[in-house]
This record gives sequence, structure tokens and C-alpha cells, in this order.
Amino acid sequence: MSDTTALSALDQLVARSRRLGADRSVCNWGGGNTSAKSDETDFRGRRVRVLWVKGSGSDLATCTTESFTGLYLDDIAPLLERERMSDTEMVDYLAHCYFNPGRPRPSIETLLHGFLPFTHVDHTHADATNYFACAQDGEQLARECFSDALIWIPYRRPGFGLARDVALAVRAHPDAQLVILAKHGLITWGETDEVCFASTMATIGQARDFVEARITDATRPIFGGGRAAALVAERRQAIAAEVAPLLRGLVSQEKRQILHFEDGDDVLEFAGSSDAPRLTQIGAACPDHLVHTKPWPLLVDWTPDRDSAALGAALRAGVEAYVAKYRAYLDANAEQDLDPDAAQPVLRAADAASDPHPRVILIPGVGMFTTGRDSAMANVAAQLYHRAIAVMRGAEACGGFISLTDAESYTVEYWPLEQYKLKLAPPEHELARQVALVTGAAGGIGSAICRRLARDGAHVVLRNSAQDVLSPSTWM
Ligand SMILES: [Zn+2]
Repeated sequence: MSDTTALSALDQLVARSRRLGADRSVCNWGGGNTSAKSDETDFRGRRVRVLWVKGSGSDLATCTTESFTGLYLDDIAPLLERERMSDTEMVDYLAHCYFNPGRPRPSIETLLHGFLPFTHVDHTHADATNYFACAQDGEQLARECFSDALIWIPYRRPGFGLARDVALAVRAHPDAQLVILAKHGLITWGETDEVCFASTMATIGQARDFVEARITDATRPIFGGGRAAALVAERRQAIAAEVAPLLRGLVSQEKRQILHFEDGDDVLEFAGSSDAPRLTQIGAACPDHLVHTKPWPLLVDWTPDRDSAALGAALRAGVEAYVAKYRAYLDANAEQDLDPDAAQPVLRAADAASDPHPRVILIPGVGMFTTGRDSAMANVAAQLYHRAIAVMRGAEACGGFISLTDAESYTVEYWPLEQYKLKLAPPEHELARQVALVTGAAGGIGSAICRRLARDGAHVVLRNSAQDVLSPSTWM
């Protein structure tokens, strides 16, 4: 097999993807996808054109050649002649197009890459272009920034329809250099790997400079200025430690959760701002945040001039109100057809994770808790919320932050193709979602206990001369 070209095209793509993923303001965790098209020799010795595209559920920052799937481009191109295709049809169809078997299911956004005539394509959810994508005046300002190089596509859930809209728009505007997908992300391209990367980064840089200048010129302070000043670091940590057990109990009513705490400057500025009560009600800053953060965080109704007993009461009331709101959102959308192009209505799967508790909890002056089935997933929710804060900051300088409607959020959050990503996680072990404190952990018996607990899925806090927290994966 003459795989030299194959390896170099795919290796280049992996390297470019990891470069993009290394900056989380360019690629949020698990978000975005990249592709390259190359001539390969297939199992029958035929020369064929192959689309290499990222698999569903992997992260660009850590991708390898195994994260990508090769598809016969000749099989994909004719789909553009269709007017519609259901999600199930699309997934089934793509399963027949594999260049080499055993690869991951290709990204939900595969056809976006396949339909474009460019050799290299980057699709990112970059903060700076989402300043426009998620702003009231975003389209008009993006045109000021990019003029005729820009194609603006109104919001539509990813899938066949969006891929087709983009392809037809690019065909009609052959001089365009970028596409902004409203309330979603950016598409850039190039005929070589380097040109594609340079175009992606230059586009993002241009958007960032444009919007940062507006932020600097604005007379109104960022997020409307402070409502609650941040406490000093020691006090923040002390309060977080004090309320964490209560909060963990409150959010674990249906399923036990692991908490993650952060108190970075962006979080403190946002959570304590005058605009936070309004902005936290609007929705997610990118569709793919939804399965990790839900449409809204819980902003706790408490300020540091009150005592921590009042914080406990505010957490109880806040979680209760959040659960009621989330259940109402589930009920209001229960009849929504999640695949309108399918012959039969597709409703939310009975096994879809629908725990109504908040995944992001903001405490003014103190910081942010996030939740997840393990510390890694709680950390993912936190990383995505940093992106949301950044996008809201920029979008507010572009006429005001906007997001998906509740109905649009629901069709992404409970979309079977988005839920599929969650199902890629390995099954939970017996002690998953549990935290164990082991004293004397450095000794022979102590360390053996730690290993056993970790092997069975527990998060283990080791207490000895030094303290540390290890997730099961790092310990095993
Ligand atoms: Zn996307």
C-alpha cells in the first residue's frame, strides 16, 4: 500500500488540529472539527479521493491519527444534490463510506467539510468570531470587519441542512474567505495545510482586534460594572470549602456528582457583575456547550456582605428554583421533533441523561462550582464556562449577547447525535462518583487501598505528608 501521501496528509491534519486545540480561545474542549482531502490508494489498489475528518466526541487538542476517519469523497459529494436527509439516514449513509474500517463515527459536521470544494477546512467555535455570532448586531459588525470576504449563515442546527446551506452559499460567493454560523462558529479554509491554519488564525485575530477596540472605546464598564466585590483568596477558599458538602448534596439528588471549584479573575468579575443576573438567563454561548453546561448556570442569589448561613439558604433556594425551571424546559419541549426530516417524529430518548440539576454554579465574590460524573467532566464544564464568559464579554460590546432559544437549545441538548458523544464514555465502575479519603496513603497498605479504590472508580484523596487529589485515570 502506498500510504506515504496518506500518512503525510493525515499527519499534517493531526498536527494542525493540535495547534488549533492548544489555544482554548480558538477551540473549546471537544468543539470544532478539521478536515483534509487527499488522494489515496484503497484496499483494491484504486486511486481515490479521501476526506479525512475528525471523529465524533474527540478533542482537537489531544487528537491523534486514530481520532480521524477517512471517507470516500466520491460517495459524499452526490449528497449535495439532495434537498434533505434525516440524521439517521446521514449516519447510516456515512457508515458505508469508510476508507478504512474500524474508525470512529465521523463528526456530526462531516458533510460541512465534505461539501466544501477546499482541500483543507477548519471549523472552530473561536471566542473572537463568536463575539459576532452571538451578538445582536453581530452580522452587521462582522460585515464591517470582514466586508465581502464574509458569508453569514443564520442559525440552524448542525446536520445535513446546515452543511448544504453553507455549501450553496460558498458556491454563490466564490471570493468568500470565511463563513460565520450564527450562534455557533466559524469555517475557514485553504488549499494547503499552512494556508488553512494561517487563514483561521488571521480571521480570529481580525475579529478579536475589531471587538477589543469596541470594548476599549465603550463608555459602559464590562458587564455593567461590579455588583459584588470579590473576597480575598483565603476567604473565597474557606467559604467554598464550607458550602461544598451542602452543594454536593443538593446537586446529587438524582445522581451523585463530583464538584470542581475555580475562582479565576474572569469568573469573579462576571459572577459579581451588575449584568450577571440578566446574562445568565440568556442561554449557552455555543451549541456544543449544552450537554456539559445546560442552557443556563445557577447564579446564586447571595453577595459577600451576607454571612455564610445565608449562603447555605441561597444555595438551597437556588438549586430548587433551577430544578423547577429545568423541568419546565423539559416539559415544554417534550413533544419537539428532534429530527424533522425523518419519516417519524423523533422524541427525546428514554435513556437520555436529563438530570435537572445545574452543572455550573456561580457564587458572587467567591467563584464557580461545576459538576460532573467525575472530576474530568466537572472540569470540562468549567472550561466551557470560561469560554461562555469570554464570548458574553465580546458580544455585549456588539449590541448585546444573544443565544439559542429554549426550543433550539433543547433540540441540540437532546439531539441523539449529541447524546451519542456522552455514550462514548466508558461504563462507570462500582465506586464511580464517590470520593474516598485515605489516611496514611504513602504506606504499603495505604497505597494498596488507594490503588484498589481508584481501580473501582473512586476519586481518592491521599493524606500523608502531602495532600493530593487524583482522578481514577491518573492513578490507574
Ligand atoms: Zn460546530
